[in-house]
Amino acid sequence: MPPQATAKPRRTPRAQKPGVTVSDAIRLLTDAHGPFANEPRLDPAHELVFTILSQHTSDRNSERAFRTLMHRFSTLEAVAAAPVADIEHAIANGGLAKVKAPRISQVLNRILELNDHSLDLRFLAEMPMHDARAWLRRLPGIGPKSAGIILSFSLGMPAMAVDTHIYRVSKRLGIIGPKVSADKAHEILEAAMPPEDVYPFHAAFITHGRQVCKAQRPLCADCVLNYGCPSRDDAAIAKAAAAAVAPAAPDAAAPAAADNDRPDGQAPGRRRRQRNAVTPVPHTQAVKELQP
Ligand code: SF4
Repeated sequence: MPPQATAKPRRTPRAQKPGVTVSDAIRLLTDAHGPFANEPRLDPAHELVFTILSQHTSDRNSERAFRTLMHRFSTLEAVAAAPVADIEHAIANGGLAKVKAPRISQVLNRILELNDHSLDLRFLAEMPMHDARAWLRRLPGIGPKSAGIILSFSLGMPAMAVDTHIYRVSKRLGIIGPKVSADKAHEILEAAMPPEDVYPFHAAFITHGRQVCKAQRPLCADCVLNYGCPSRDDAAIAKAAAAAVAPAAPDAAAPAAADNDRPDGQAPGRRRRQRNAVTPVPHTQAVKELQP
């Protein structure tokens, strides 16, 4: 008689720090940094050119380059028809002009080819999002992030656009795994929330990444998500808490100087955004004045 199979002992799951759900993160970050203004930006073709100009450079440089490009050529049709050297000269103040000028020229001319000699991409808003994204991905050098920016910001579709801040914060919070690529993160994050949360998520996470969960020294003691973040710096949080309860020495200059180093002069962990201020969506403010 064969021996009876014995049930395997169940493993006790390893204790983990409690996580932060996506919906809680959006709510808490919006309370801390929002509300976020959702203003219309450029039309899709202009947004596409701006997106290329904004790669690997600061907002300031890309705005400058976009402004000089449009000042020099007036229309994107004229940019498409121009020699690459002229485009390169026009965007020289934005950085990486040698790479970006041919890319802009190629993208615009490919759109003209695919779209019956028109640069009007508003028809994408009528397509299912998957098809609209696939259409944009046919353009040279347009990856999931650039496609997400056009669909989301220019056409108001619930497309995810994962920039370096969103990618970093999502990994630190354990919303995506440590080895997930940035391209794959688009799919995972888009599937992790209802469509109506995609834009608030984008605005909240990019702002949080820029202001608090910074690449080099995240301000974990000031972070409203530190209660459940698996990457939090416990030592920094404990140090800030100890400093907050330590009695102030009336004649000690050092602690006062440390607090006064902060822009708002408040103790660590108590930084709050200015009441009633509306946080512009990253570079919306800068871009809206560039509307042709
Ligand atoms: S606790 Fe620290 S690492 Fe975690 S999200 Fe906040 S700032 Fe980033």
